[in-house]
Formats: sequence, structure tokens, C-alpha cells
Amino acid sequence: MSGRMRSGLRGEEMNGKNQAWRNLELLMAALMALAGFMWGQAAVAGQDQDYSKVQIKATKVSGNIYMLQGAGGNIAASIGEDGIVIVDDQFAPLAEKIQAALKELKITDKPVRFVINTHYHGDHTGGNAPFSNTGSTVIAQDNVRKRLESGGTAGNGGAIKMESKPADKAALPIITFEHDVTVHLNGEDIRALHFPAGHTDGDSIIFFPKNNVVHMGDDFVRYGFPFIDVTSGGSVQGMISAMEKATAQLPADVKVIPGHGDISNLDDVRAFTKMLKETSAVVEKAIAEKKTLEQMKKEKILAPWAPKWNGDFVNEDAFIETLYNSLTGHKGEFVKRN
Ligand SMILES: [Zn+2]
Repeated sequence: MSGRMRSGLRGEEMNGKNQAWRNLELLMAALMALAGFMWGQAAVAGQDQDYSKVQIKATKVSGNIYMLQGAGGNIAASIGEDGIVIVDDQFAPLAEKIQAALKELKITDKPVRFVINTHYHGDHTGGNAPFSNTGSTVIAQDNVRKRLESGGTAGNGGAIKMESKPADKAALPIITFEHDVTVHLNGEDIRALHFPAGHTDGDSIIFFPKNNVVHMGDDFVRYGFPFIDVTSGGSVQGMISAMEKATAQLPADVKVIPGHGDISNLDDVRAFTKMLKETSAVVEKAIAEKKTLEQMKKEKILAPWAPKWNGDFVNEDAFIETLYNSLTGHKGEFVKRN
């Protein structure tokens, strides 16, 4: 899998920084298709995703909040009298289609005034440059800007590894925050709250309190075992903590937009959190027993969770690696593979 991703980096016609993410997206698209989910028209065959074939599907979530799906992370959109605020923006070649899909809802002719990034990964921030070039202001947590600016490696410290180049200036968030920020538009206090060290070190969960909707970024996904970017400051403990803190302050009937996958509810989030806690406890116990990573894989210590959570993107072994590296503090680059 990592070989496929790395070989994708050789593509030339693509904007380099998005290439690895595009391949990640292909893998995820293949997974979603296998799992029987709708994944729009995202190409699943071959290395090159043809963005011209991607269709943007808009779904009403609640009130004036919509979810847009195409390729890459889910987009939340607040559309109303003051204009449009979106959360995440998928890939640069889709920006015009995203704009068109927002217009087609025929709610407002006003522009996308703000884009809030849930985290720095290219399948959530790839559209930053085209959106800022057409007048939107991009907002994100401090570490999102830092990681976009520097480029670097994303990965689980093992088989999953993706390189990104430093982003263009136009792609960098103009407004950054350390802990939280609120955008007061469309009669709502749209709040982005930073949860440290979960999927990455720059994750925000975005709350739409009036509409009772939340966008959880990639701290909560529906493609099975999650990707935790331990090389970008993510950790399973942080992801569990983010989910517990967020669910504690959300109404029971809140509508949850996951980073990837279908609209969910708090029971789905709780099942996900329970799996994270159980699997990390199993790996923690194995570490205490001085088992090696290789032994853990051979003994298939996550077998009880595999039927429900195993995925093509993050399979059982990749998740053991993730948990092992997260719990031992290994960041990947210097991990000795058994
Ligand atoms: Zn991500």
C-alpha cells in the first residue's frame, strides 16, 4: 500500500503536493466502494484520478447546513443571508465544481466568505488556494498553517507514509488561532475548537450550535480503523480525548459530519471511541508484556475488531503499527521495523 502511494509521487502532471493525497483518496475511494458506500464518481481504477469525472453531491444536514461530497474530505457549508462559510475544501481542481454546487442550491448568490480547515491534510485543504484567490478567507489552527507552509511527512510511523511539499502562499490560512475561533454569520456562532494531538496536532472540530450540527474532521471517520498521523503530532490518546470531550458537550440528537463517510450520530461516535479505547488497551498490554510489533501482528491481537473495522486504507496490521507507535511515542522516521 505504501509502495502504491510512493509510486504515485512520480506523477508529473499533478500539483506535487496533492499527488500523495490523491492516491490516498483513491485507496479510500476503493475502500468505500467495497464497503458499499456511495463515493460519488471518484475514480477507483488506476493511479490517476480524473477530477473531471468527480461530481459534487450536496445533502441537506439540518436547517441551513449542507454537506458536500466529491473526492476527499466531507465539506460542511453554512449557507444563508450573510453568505457562505465552508469547512474544508477537498482538492484544488474541484473548487469550481464546489462553487457551482453551492450556487445550484439557489439559497444565496453571495460568495464563500470563509473556509475553515479541520486539519492540514491535502484532501481537506487542497482547495485553499483557489478559494482564497476568489476572495474567501481561510481560517485554521496555528499548526495547520505551519504544516502547510513547511510541507513534510504524514504517516502512521509504519506502512502508511505520504510526503507533501510546502504549499503555495495562497493556500495558507490568513487567520489562525491557538485554541478556538468563532465566526458569527448566518445567525449562528460557528465555533472551531482545537483538540490537540488527535488525527494530527492541528485538528479542529467545528460546531454549528443553532443547527445542531458538528463537523469532526478526521478525528472521526467512517472508513474503518482510522488513520492517525503520528508523524504530524497525532495520537490515539488525543483522538479518544477529543471524541470524549466533544460528545460530552453535544446534544444527544446532534448530526455528525465525519471527515469521511456518511452523516452520523453520537452512537456512531461512541462505537468508534469504544473501539479506539479497547484496541489501544490491547496494544498497551502487549507493550507492557514486552511483545514486539512483529509479534503483535503475528498474534493478530486486534482480530476481534477486524471484521467490523478492517479497511483497505488502514488494515489490522497498519492499525497495530499506528497504536504501537502512538503509545510508545515513536514518530516513524527512526522506528526500527522488526
Ligand atoms: Zn486527514
